[in-house]
Amino acid sequence: MKRGFIFFCLIWTVLTVSPLCFYRIQGFPSAELAPQVPIQTDSLSEQNMQANGFLPTALSVYITSEDKIISMDTEEYIWGVVAAEMPASFHEEALKAQAVAARTYLANRLQTKNEKHPDAHICTDSTHCQGWCSRTDARAKWVHDADLYENKLNAALLETKEKILLYEEKPILAAYHALSSGKTNDAVDVWGKKVPYLVSVPVEEDRLREKYYFEVRYPHDALCALFSEHGYPITSISDIGTPVYNDAGYILRIGIGENSVSGSDLRNLLALRSAAVTIVRQEDAVLFQTRGYGHGVGMSQYGADSLGKNGKSFFEILSYFYPGTTLMPE
Ligand SMILES: [Zn+2]
Repeated sequence: MKRGFIFFCLIWTVLTVSPLCFYRIQGFPSAELAPQVPIQTDSLSEQNMQANGFLPTALSVYITSEDKIISMDTEEYIWGVVAAEMPASFHEEALKAQAVAARTYLANRLQTKNEKHPDAHICTDSTHCQGWCSRTDARAKWVHDADLYENKLNAALLETKEKILLYEEKPILAAYHALSSGKTNDAVDVWGKKVPYLVSVPVEEDRLREKYYFEVRYPHDALCALFSEHGYPITSISDIGTPVYNDAGYILRIGIGENSVSGSDLRNLLALRSAAVTIVRQEDAVLFQTRGYGHGVGMSQYGADSLGKNGKSFFEILSYFYPGTTLMPE
């Protein structure tokens, strides 16, 4: 238990402190969700609870951009998370799956210690909790489609009202990301901890998405300097080793000089969209050709959209990306 606590502290610290852990590229969903420090909260038992038995019916939400805490209905908060985290143009069933994932993430999050905003259940910083936007801001973002998209999200929330995903009777860590490499990533290869419902599954249609491939170019000198500045001193790109990949195509480890660096750390250090990356050495530069976007764990949001368009229900989508989980209430 103590080792697990230390592990979560370490992961939390790394993912919270590093400014390169989370970055947005316009047009992509934003979510990158990390494990937190587990605790038990007694205070929840004194509040009015949703039908799932894990969430209060109202939340105190820290609005990060305005540095203030406001109280809101929990379902209204989830509406704002879906509006912020997934394009409203996505399929209706994908939006429902996103609503359940966001609600489940909240339920899981409320059982974790939160030192950044101890007086609020959750915050609107996507790099700490989940992204969120108000109806007013969402409608402004959607411009001429505001009525259409607001109604789509209203329906997604109503049809998944108070539903969350459970594994062994507890809310799951409902990690999600924008676009997989063509296969989702196993949690053990990203966070070092095996999670039975966060295992690799194929998402072939992710390979067909417009923004699947991306390339970042680093001149030799700049790359050596960047690695050296971050504690991996090298003088030549010949000091960069051959990567070891997992079955889903994400880098597990790569030698940088005398150090072994994880795929996640490499991605963060070089601000790559994904750790599913092919390294191409050129005469004066190195190309990092990535596939997909995000850590790759859990639900692929673009994959959810594809499954919805292929006739899958939101529960079938969730069951695909989080195998072995159950919906509560059914
Ligand atoms: Zn937060």
